[in-house]
Amino acid sequence: MENAVKEKTKTLWNKCPSCDQIIYKKDLEENLKICPKCHYYLRMSARERIALLADTNASGKAVFEEMDANFFSEDPLRFEDPAKSKSSYAAKLASEQKKTGHYEAIVCGEAEMGKHKVVLAVMDFEFMGGSMGSVVGEKVTRAIERSLQIKAPLLIISASGGARMQEGILSLMQMAKTSAALARLHQEGILCICLLCDPTTGGVTASFATLGDILIAEPKALIAFAGPRVIEQTIRQKLPEGFQQSEFLMQHGMVDCIVERKNLKAQIINFLNIFKKKA
Ligand SMILES: [Zn+2]
Repeated sequence: MENAVKEKTKTLWNKCPSCDQIIYKKDLEENLKICPKCHYYLRMSARERIALLADTNASGKAVFEEMDANFFSEDPLRFEDPAKSKSSYAAKLASEQKKTGHYEAIVCGEAEMGKHKVVLAVMDFEFMGGSMGSVVGEKVTRAIERSLQIKAPLLIISASGGARMQEGILSLMQMAKTSAALARLHQEGILCICLLCDPTTGGVTASFATLGDILIAEPKALIAFAGPRVIEQTIRQKLPEGFQQSEFLMQHGMVDCIVERKNLKAQIINFLNIFKKKA
């Protein structure tokens, strides 16, 4: 009985990780998952992102045709974490699939935004910290190839802890594969917009998340390759205030604009309009 009450409380209320205030879940969702008390950006799932950005049909549902939904990893290295007994990669994948309702850390497909046909590749941090294994890399590559095939702009939305260690070198080679595919898209003059959300780090930052024509960041997102502690230990210097946050990166020319969540769809459609006119 007590568990049922706890479960109900969890489904009705959220705690803001920044100000610790308890927020009514419905209010949070209506406020696009931004804390109404302190304006902290909570993470959105891939499905929530798609619902936020894609055009809707007459019944208000996002029009989105998913591709490659049933791709899943084969656990090529038979990876077991030596630090945690009985913690295999295969078991972790199964529990993440159950938790998130999808097979991998990315959802890809075709949608329309402001009546423009677009291909979306949307990462989900909830699935193993949005890490990039062979399936994420393959799905990003196939989304790029779909863009090439139908000559529609590509929107990549990143939220990731980086390459997935449980797939070793197979994860790292996805950086080269996705980068090569994006170079082909670039050669064809097809627009690629990258939206960087909190956090975008490691091998994802160092490949497809930052290779777009336009880089948009959400406010105060952590965008980095290595984490601040690793850098400080390597260079033996203290890092400046706000280092690796969207605002710092914008000042130093690494991202093109910072856009508030409520303005994202309109801003992206604006870019799609500008590039359509120039085509
Ligand atoms: Zn808050």
